[in-house]
Amino acid sequence: MAKNLTKYIIISLILGIVIGLGMNLFTPDLFGTVDKYVFAPLGDIFLRLIQMMVVPIVFISIVLGTANIGDPKKLGRIGGKTIGFFLLSTAVAISIAMALAFIVKPGEPGLLDKSAEGFESEEAPSVVDTLVNIIPTNPIDAMTSGEMLQIIFFAIFIGFGLTMLAKKTDKIYHLFEQANELVMYLIMIVMYTAPFGAFGLIASAVGGAGMDAIASMAAYFFVVLAALFIHAIITYGSVIKFVAKKSPWWFFKNFSPAMSVAFGTASSGATLPVSMKTAQERLGVRKSVSSFVQPLGATINMDGTAIMQGVATVFIAQVYAVDLSFTQILTVLMIAILASIGTAGVPGVGLIMLAMVLEQVGLPVEAIGLILGVDRLLDMTRTAVNITGDATCALFISETEKDLEEKDPSIRD
Ligand code: ASP
Repeated sequence: MAKNLTKYIIISLILGIVIGLGMNLFTPDLFGTVDKYVFAPLGDIFLRLIQMMVVPIVFISIVLGTANIGDPKKLGRIGGKTIGFFLLSTAVAISIAMALAFIVKPGEPGLLDKSAEGFESEEAPSVVDTLVNIIPTNPIDAMTSGEMLQIIFFAIFIGFGLTMLAKKTDKIYHLFEQANELVMYLIMIVMYTAPFGAFGLIASAVGGAGMDAIASMAAYFFVVLAALFIHAIITYGSVIKFVAKKSPWWFFKNFSPAMSVAFGTASSGATLPVSMKTAQERLGVRKSVSSFVQPLGATINMDGTAIMQGVATVFIAQVYAVDLSFTQILTVLMIAILASIGTAGVPGVGLIMLAMVLEQVGLPVEAIGLILGVDRLLDMTRTAVNITGDATCALFISETEKDLEEKDPSIRD
């Protein structure tokens, strides 16, 4: 499915760009109507279908992923490595982004000249609160309100219970296996609408923004793209080459179908079935590792989104002539990491997280309006990076686990 789907998504993206841009240039009035009745609804239908599937797929695959890892010691080791990798790679991502934005100064020419007066920074959410809140008081409530971290916690807990009780609960385990088959099938159906959704989303974005918006935002736009590119090639490339001991070229070539689906859909959640399948079948990542690491990553690991936030914060500070202090820079780093943890990978959440970051460092939240015009295009690109980070982590864990087993065959499952 991945191959044809990729082809159709790419075709509809090109079509969407041509039609959106053409209408923006030649028939801007007509664009408004067509956007309202055709492009925007097409995009919305697709997005709603995806959102409908995010909670079930994350819950079910993490229960299964945890149960499949089995041995609690191994679960602890893999869990620790996964979280460590996610935190570190997000910190590297945002550092690259901010460093690049400080060097290139995309906001320097002054799109808007406003002083920083009247903006007060607020307190960052405490790490303790965030950690304590991971435990849901009511798991059903967590599911209805889409509290992803709480859902993940509950899922890992159930997966752990299933492992410990083994035979006694094998019927429940099989129920989850079948539920997994079912949601994967449903997602596959939803993905058939992806080319239409991608067409609607890009036509609406390009037609709404037009060349002018892109030109005035060019510096910001290209700094984000450059940071995404550097992070993907250098950070992930080094992990693939030096830690997983594989060729980065081989990795990117084989993983590219999933990356283009992520680009077309702007959703890590929707791309999950394709990216898991691609990682397992084309990169040789173990099924148990992939079904634990990738759904977790789709929710808590968003390096591409962190990059956008890093560049956007520095950009907005430059436009508003605010000198960010070292503490503020560290705050951005911390908040961007925390913000990316609790939100699921669906289109546009990056902007909501950015609002949180801006508020914490005392920059005006309305400044998001400055970057709104080009955000959809960046959303697509950063989503491709987000899922590549998850796959890199899955490959790294799968390969290092293999090495451990070779050294100590007693830990083989
Ligand atoms: N669309 C991104 C994702 O699904 C999140 C974001 O940056 O808005 O991974």
